[in-house]
Formats: sequence, structure tokens, C-alpha cells
Amino acid sequence: MTTAVVVGSGPNGLAAAVHLARHGVDVQVLEAADTIGGGTRSAELTVPGLLHDECSAFHPMGAGSPFLQTLGLERYGLTWRWPEVDCAHPLDNGDAGLLYRSVAQTAAGLGADGRRWQRMFGGLADSFDDLAADLMRPIASVPRHPVRLASFGSRALLPATATARWWRTDRARALFGGVAAHTYHRLDRPATSAVGLMIVAAGHRYGWPVAEGGSQSIAAALAAMLTDRGGRITTGVRVRSTRDIPPADVVMLDVTPAAALEILGDRVPGRVARAYRRFRHGAAAFKVDFAVEGGVPWTAPDCGRAGTVHLGGDFAEITRAERDVTAGRMPQRPFVLLGQQYLADPTRSNGNLHPVYAYAHVPHGYPGDATEAIVAQVERFAPGFRDRIVATVSSGPARLAESNPNYVGGDIIGGANTETQVVLRPRVALDPYRTGVPGVYLCSASTPPGAGAHGMCGYNAAESALRHLRGA
Ligand SMILES: Cc1cc2nc3c(=O)[nH]c(=O)nc-3n(C[C@H](O)[C@H](O)[C@H](O)COP(=O)(O)OP(=O)(O)OC[C@H]3O[C@@H](n4cnc5c(N)ncnc54)[C@H](O)[C@@H]3O)c2cc1C
Repeated sequence: MTTAVVVGSGPNGLAAAVHLARHGVDVQVLEAADTIGGGTRSAELTVPGLLHDECSAFHPMGAGSPFLQTLGLERYGLTWRWPEVDCAHPLDNGDAGLLYRSVAQTAAGLGADGRRWQRMFGGLADSFDDLAADLMRPIASVPRHPVRLASFGSRALLPATATARWWRTDRARALFGGVAAHTYHRLDRPATSAVGLMIVAAGHRYGWPVAEGGSQSIAAALAAMLTDRGGRITTGVRVRSTRDIPPADVVMLDVTPAAALEILGDRVPGRVARAYRRFRHGAAAFKVDFAVEGGVPWTAPDCGRAGTVHLGGDFAEITRAERDVTAGRMPQRPFVLLGQQYLADPTRSNGNLHPVYAYAHVPHGYPGDATEAIVAQVERFAPGFRDRIVATVSSGPARLAESNPNYVGGDIIGGANTETQVVLRPRVALDPYRTGVPGVYLCSASTPPGAGAHGMCGYNAAESALRHLRGA
């Protein structure tokens, strides 16, 4: 029987494992941590009975993943739950931009910019599935929908600062800017519109759901499907060299390019090794989990209905904060993403005590404590928040990297979204999953299509491995 070893059980490692197992391959997964899931783990971090997502929380790209959708993971316990409002972006004047799954409902709340929002996203949302089929594959693939892809590409390649000029109101610009900030890069650089446009379009197509029972339910469902197909998962095994990997026909590495080099050593051809060494990691996250009595007292009441709340002020302020963290400077007011997953999934709360999730964008490797900066950003839009905090657990870049070696310097997106790396990651190659070592593939978020709990990097890498096994 053909055999495979997958190193790492993040959503990409598990997706690769499931895809190979579905093709009759005998798969073994080795995971360094004591629990599976990588960026899809959840735990009672603050007080007993409150369930927090340790990393990923909102899943427009998971629900819209061309691969995950084919699996029927609901049979393995995965249930998506949607908040009333997908994303809110409050401003200092008490106003807030609101993103709904419905383009029309979103546009209706954007006043003078409603029609422009509709024109920008109506078509993108309708064609999201076709776009995702092309964009979530390596760039060298022959496009299935070339006209749509070209039309998206012409907009995606613009800096987010140029796209934002399409809108006239602070509300619409800030709403787009908060989503564009998920690029984790200077927003005045080319191609920084791509991530924002895709995540908004995915939201209009699939909403921004959470997984019932925590994001861990995504990993649990993939793992259950894998074991159903005869696969095995061993936790507590950190692979440091090829000596730690049992003999197998293919090896899938859900790790960073630098970690792949460390594991494979001088078996990696020189040109690949040089590209892996040049691969850049970017700005970091500083995460704080709160236990909050009675939830967040928002000034803009609609924020109390939103799963995700982006705290960063207007578009200009977000642009400055992202420029600073990219340049290695800690902004006084960092961009903060706040999660109220319990609104869609009440099983995560304990009575009136709720788990509130927040992380700030901070410089790569930031050694300081951003807890107070995060609390201040929440207080700015929800005065009285501080008094409701019952417990706090902070995880800066060092702690994030300790919990998961893929978060180098606290970079949670598997490598900076520079102009090149946003599409050509980890190197310029027709098959970016190949490591140059026969039968060994990189399948983490450091490969296309990049960050997110969508499993598409794992699926694409497994496709490449299957071609190798067929001798193609
Ligand atoms: C705070 C935070 C918030 C996020 N929010 C979202 C969100 O809302 N929505 C979204 O879609 N995405 C989000 N993400 C990003 C998402 O979690 C990642 O992009 C995704 O998990 C990447 O999956 P992966 O399989 O490539 O890697 P990972 O999920 O990082 O998994 C890698 C796994 O490999 C293991 N591993 C690494 N090296 C070794 C080794 N040498 N030996 C054995 N095991 C090893 C690690 O322990 C880990 O379990 C967030 C991430 C963080 C940290």
C-alpha cells in the first residue's frame, strides 16, 4: 500500500492527509503539540466553562473552501453558526459600518456609498465560487474562468489605499479598510486589495461563520474523517530531521520553509534552499482573551450583534497603523480585531460571562505587552469595558511562536504578504509545493493560497503528491 507521513496537524496538514487517504493512501500524521489542529484549536483559556478560540475564529474562507465543501464535514460534527452581523467597524462619532452576508443589506447601511458597494461587490459575490476555484490554486494553473480572473486581478493588484478611494464616506472606507488590514502589510503597496476584496466577497457569499463548539470542531471533523479512512495521528512528536520521519512514499510538511530546510538539511537543492532562506515573515499578532461579564458595552449598539468587530478608527488611521507595524514600530493605537463568537455559538459562554477574543497587529517579534493598548482600543468604542473584565490571558508573539512553531516571530499568516509572496509563496515555481526533494511537499500556509483555515494549501499539495505517485 502507498504510504504518506504528514508533519503537522493544522487545517492544511489534515486536509492533505484526508485528500491522500481518500485516494487510498495509508496516512500517518505527526503533530508536535499535545492537541491536534494548529490554528484551529480552542480551549478554556480564562475561566472554566468559557470556550476560547486559540487562533482562527471566523471562517468565510473555511465555509467557502472549494475542498472542505466537498467533504461533508457536517457528518463529522462540523456545524457553522452565523452571527446576525458578520462584521462591524465602529467610528469615533458613534457611527459603524456593518457587513452583512447580503450585499443589498450592507449597501442599505452605507448611505451615499451603498450603490458603489453594490457595484464593487455584487458581481464579486455572485462569481465567488468561480473565482475561488482559480484563486485558491497556484498561479501557474490554467484558469477555469479567465475573464473573471482577469477582471478580479485588475482590481486586486491595486493598493488598498487606491481601492478605498472608490468610496466617499468614512463608513464604507473604514469597513473595507478593516478587512483589507487582514493582508497584514502596508496598505499602500501593490496587491494589498486582493485579500480584502476576497474576504468581503467570501463574506457576501458565505457569511463569516464560527464553528459550533469552537474552531477545534474543524480539526476534529477532519481528524474523524481521516481515522475513518484508516489514517493515524500521533501527538507530542516534534519532527526535527528526516530521522524522525518513518519511511513513506510521500511526506507532507505543514511547516514553514525555514523549518522544512532544517528538517530536510542538505537534501534540498541549492536554488530551493536559497529561496526558502529568502522567504520573509511579517508583522505579528498580540492576542488577549477576556472573560467579560455581560459582554462589551458598545457605543454603537449594532456592534453588539456582530461576530467580528474591527477597531482601528478611520481608513487613514488603519493605514498608518499597518505602515508602522510593517516597519517594525508599535503604533499607539494598533489595529485590533475583536471576536464575539459566543453571539453565534452561545455554548461558549457560562451564563452572563462571555469569552471575548481580541488581537492587535504588532511588529514582528514585538517583545512588549500590548494588553493595555488593546483594552484602550475597546474602551474607545465601548466605554466601561474595562470594568466588566473578569479575567485576561495575554499571548504575545513569543508565546504564540512557542505554542506553534509555524508562527515565526508571531507572524500568524505563514509569511508576509509582500507584493511577491502574496501569490508566489514560498518561491517562484510552477509547482510551489515541491521542495525539490523527491516525494516531499510543503503544504502549510506558506504556500498558495496562503493563510486561513481553508485547507486549500494542503489539498493543492496533496494533488501534487498524487501526481508524483502516479508518475505524472
Ligand atoms: C490569533 C490568530 C487568529 C486567526 N484568525 C483566523 C480567522 O479568523 N480565520 C482564518 O481562516 N484564519 C485565521 N488565522 C490563520 C489560520 O489559523 C492559519 O492560517 C491556519 O491555521 C494555517 O494552517 P496550517 O495548517 O498551514 O498551519 P497551522 O495551523 O499553523 O498548523 C501547523 C501545525 O504543525 C505543527 N508543527 C509545526 N512544526 C512541526 C514539526 N516540526 N513537527 C511536528 N509538528 C509540527 C504545529 O504544532 C501545528 O499544529 C488566525 C491565526 C491566529 C494565530
